[in-house]
Amino acid sequence: MKPRRALIIGGSLGGLFAANLLHQQGWQVEVFERVGDDLATRGAGIGTHDELFTVLQRIGITIDPTIGVPIAGRNCLDAAGKVIAYVPAPRTMSAWARLYRPLKDIFPAAQYHFGMNLERVEQNADNVTAIFTDGTRVSGDLLIGADGFRSTVRAQMMPEAQPRYAGYVGWRGMINEWEMPADFHAQMFAHYFFCLPEGEIMLCFPVPGRDNDVTPGRRAYTFVWYHPADEHRALPDLCTDASGKCHGTSIPPPLIRPQVIAELRAVAHAKMAPQMARVADLAAQPFFQPIYDLDTPRVVNGRVALLGDAAFVARPHTGMGVTKAALDASWLADALAADRDIDAALAAYQTRCRLFGSRAVARGRWCGAHLEAQATTPREQRSAAELHHAPPVVLLREHGAKIHDIPGLAELV
Ligand SMILES: Cc1cc2nc3c(=O)[nH]c(=O)nc-3n(C[C@H](O)[C@H](O)[C@H](O)COP(=O)(O)OP(=O)(O)OC[C@H]3O[C@@H](n4cnc5c(N)ncnc54)[C@H](O)[C@@H]3O)c2cc1C
Repeated sequence: MKPRRALIIGGSLGGLFAANLLHQQGWQVEVFERVGDDLATRGAGIGTHDELFTVLQRIGITIDPTIGVPIAGRNCLDAAGKVIAYVPAPRTMSAWARLYRPLKDIFPAAQYHFGMNLERVEQNADNVTAIFTDGTRVSGDLLIGADGFRSTVRAQMMPEAQPRYAGYVGWRGMINEWEMPADFHAQMFAHYFFCLPEGEIMLCFPVPGRDNDVTPGRRAYTFVWYHPADEHRALPDLCTDASGKCHGTSIPPPLIRPQVIAELRAVAHAKMAPQMARVADLAAQPFFQPIYDLDTPRVVNGRVALLGDAAFVARPHTGMGVTKAALDASWLADALAADRDIDAALAAYQTRCRLFGSRAVARGRWCGAHLEAQATTPREQRSAAELHHAPPVVLLREHGAKIHDIPGLAELV
């Protein structure tokens, strides 16, 4: 029997999970990635979940200690730098590129096409065609939109589904382990710290270093700081370079004005524990990502299916983006293995993906509601829950919680 053919748009983690799983199931898979070169220089530290490791193992990727840096629990610091709460929460902190590398290497290189930018999709009852900006047309039985939260595939199939800005940005930055002063390294490196001044969340944790190295001395320490930035004034200002040009809703890190970074560090010194402010000082090139989420009414249209961030984006407090992309891909592969009728399989996939995705989005909104309120509600009108989300010990448990500990999601995995 002629193998069925899947076209995957987007060769990042979501696309690679699906590509490998369908390839294993005998599909002829072609991956099309808009970027012209290997993506392994991208990304930052990520939290992991057991469900992510299960999908990686199903693909044939070994999970060993090189997968990340283990941490035992989470500490919360007050503004003076004193530990005010601790929650045991063993987790492994990995890196985006640490997952991309084996997922890309295990997939046949000849079927992964760099520099292919999808322009539009055409389909009839049993066939779908991808049309690229260079004029190339490729047809298959199924097209998977794994092209991220600004998905071209989704925009064509459902222009009304738009990402929603949450009212705050995630500042991030990294320090090489070998560049940390010895006293500071001894105090911080092995630990996951939170600091929770009113309306802010800052976290610091160890991650693999350059080239995904987890050798002591060659790892890295990173921070993520959720900081309010209203959509109409603060965000455009952050995205404006030294020449006065506004780059839209994000800006390449080297173009962030030095004054913006100086102000960020000043706020860290004014509001955060001194240890956390020092992390912001030592990180060489802090950068930010505006926080969005996305809820989608449907993820299937004929022979087209969305997965990963193209389908749903939950705010990063859930620490779940990569795991959700892995789960979507495994649910899609399971549905296609269970039913040779592609339309019936896609309907089954849509049910699972939508239920998990919409609940994950709701969970992320709930975790970040007090951050959002900083930009939308005058302080005197904010409720206690909008000033501080929850007592530190609660937030330490909720942020990046295991899927099995999240009501509404636990029963879906
Ligand atoms: C601050 C922050 C912290 C985060 N922390 C975590 C965490 O701790 N744990 C976690 O699991 N997740 C985390 N995430 C989320 C995670 O980064 C994403 O959920 C994950 O990368 C989704 O992968 P994806 O493959 O669906 O999309 P993407 O990684 O966005 O990939 C989409 C791909 O499609 C390509 N593409 C786009 N358009 C086209 C086109 N027209 N033609 C061809 N190719 C195209 C792009 O170049 C890209 O390679 C975090 C996100 C943020 C913002």
